[in-house]
Amino acid sequence: MPFTQLQTELDERAAQGLLRSRRTLESPQSPHIVVDGKSYLAFCSNDYMGLANHPHLIAALQQAVLQHGVGAGAAHLVSGHSDAHHRLEQRLASFVGKPAALLFSTGYMANLGTVQALVGRGDTVFADKLNHASLNDAMLLSRAEVKRYRHGDIAQLEQLLEQTKNGRKLIVTDTVFSMDGDIAPLRELLALCERHDAWLYVDDAHGFGVLGEQGRGSLSHFGIDSPRIVYMATLGKAAGVFGAFVAAEPAVIDTLVNHAHSYVYTTATPPALSIALLESVNLIEQGAALREHLHRLIEKLREGLADLPWKLMQSDTAIQPLLIGDNLQALKLSEGLRQRGIWVAAIRPPTVPQGTARLRITLSAAHSEADVERLAEALHELAR
Ligand code: PMP
Repeated sequence: MPFTQLQTELDERAAQGLLRSRRTLESPQSPHIVVDGKSYLAFCSNDYMGLANHPHLIAALQQAVLQHGVGAGAAHLVSGHSDAHHRLEQRLASFVGKPAALLFSTGYMANLGTVQALVGRGDTVFADKLNHASLNDAMLLSRAEVKRYRHGDIAQLEQLLEQTKNGRKLIVTDTVFSMDGDIAPLRELLALCERHDAWLYVDDAHGFGVLGEQGRGSLSHFGIDSPRIVYMATLGKAAGVFGAFVAAEPAVIDTLVNHAHSYVYTTATPPALSIALLESVNLIEQGAALREHLHRLIEKLREGLADLPWKLMQSDTAIQPLLIGDNLQALKLSEGLRQRGIWVAAIRPPTVPQGTARLRITLSAAHSEADVERLAEALHELAR
């Protein structure tokens, strides 16, 4: 039989509690989702500002589709680049304080394309060990030498930089670590870049829209700015829609337009999405009340879960992982919550290191305080 070996491997994964599967949502993304006809209180989306289902964005997209149609129909460099894309790029660049920006179809593609375009054979990429999988794949694709440093370990990174004499040096890091919720020490990383003539590529997938003044992201959060920084953020998380962008010096952006394969060789995103995203940036900019509410929820969750046998990892962001350790126990807890009408994803290796399976609780400004209380009560019940 073909594929018997694949099936055996899948069966082995299942026995270890590592098989991944999907559930089908029968409702829009929101804190209240419907799966298999049953409604759940969900704590697993990255819709941090609750915009994925926002009436202004829905209206903007409906209107934009009438004007721009549903598809771009071509790659950007052929005939797919529309004025809607162009306006969004300009708005995003000025919003995050960079001279230029470039839209990518997804964050995954932005990471692949940018790292691959900026470094190659003979260069070195320095990467935090807990970086997102897309950054790891990007480094491999680039063919640069890869040097990974322990999570947040600036001293080790400095040693690695000192040992590297030739070629371009690119430090790549998540800003908010996607499975941990903690924030990279960007100020220290930038100082290292200046001392060692390196560039800093930051993946702000989980910071854009929620961190910094008016949600301008992690650079604003730390009050840093430098032409050495190449900034990337996604538009399918706090911005609630889809896509990603890189913002940087014009020479970087023009290099990407010419050399980033995941930009050049793919169809542009539907221009109507860019129109919706222009509205989304407005909502983010004016979203101080949503961000304050989100912070109250984070505090409430941390207080509410303080005396559980499992501990929340150290995090001030909307990503609040509850460390369980064992894969099967993490699955069992996730299942226990599900039986109580609550949806929280169990994250297991290889997404996280062995022995650190966790419930990745994510909060959204669309949650209420009562939602957080319900989650805390259910976890206490399961602990008993
Ligand atoms: N970087 C990080 C840190 C992420 O968490 C994600 C999404 N999980 C991505 C990149 C990829 O973004 P996208 O979903 O837009 O491909």
